[in-house]
Amino acid sequence: YLFGRKKATEVAHVVWEQVIQKGDLVVDATCGNGNDTLAMLKMVLDDSDACGGHVYAMDIQKDAIESTSSLLDQTVGSKEKCVKLFNVCHSKMEEIVPENTRVRMVAFNLGYLPGGNKSIITVSETTLSALKAAERILMPGGLISVVVYIGHRGGREELQVVEAFGSGLPVNDWVCCKVQMLNRPLAPVLVFMFKREN
Ligand code: SAM
Repeated sequence: YLFGRKKATEVAHVVWEQVIQKGDLVVDATCGNGNDTLAMLKMVLDDSDACGGHVYAMDIQKDAIESTSSLLDQTVGSKEKCVKLFNVCHSKMEEIVPENTRVRMVAFNLGYLPGGNKSIITVSETTLSALKAAERILMPGGLISVVVYIGHRGGREELQVVEAFGSGLPVNDWVCCKVQMLNRPLAPVLVFMFKREN
């Protein structure tokens, strides 16, 4: 069940499973070491050899792109071709997602690259631009998923920006909520923004 899982990302993955369908196109806005990309790929792939579904994954760090590529290589082999990796800032996601494409989910896992350079970190300004871009490209029935870490400097401010963004989305079109652990005050906060079907 949902909260039996220890990690915030695992809770997020359970929510994604309810939204993502085989054959979908989804965006990983912060691919890091590729764990989320891999989870998404498994959700969009159908049984055929061709790529029914796709993941577009991006990161500003070349190291992260390489790390994701190597994880996919080791785990999904030829299905790696169903993931497109981009070494860009997520605020530019509209430049890489083809126009008029139906995007089922845009997922953010904010903060720094685990095991990498902790000074390279998501920042409120580009996170907000990327959320706005995600809002524009998301299909009805889609999800913007954000895992926000508050234990590092700037984390709480970034959470405020994410929460303000979700709070401002029109109530007729969006269902926005957050999951916060009351007895683990430094645990990551999950923010989900579901775009209603028309
Ligand atoms: N999802 C990853 C995984 O499963 O391993 C973990 C992501 S890690 C917490 C955050 C990542 O965001 C880092 O790899 C960092 O380089 C990346 N990042 C920071 N600023 C970014 C930006 N403006 N655009 C895209 N990625 C960014």
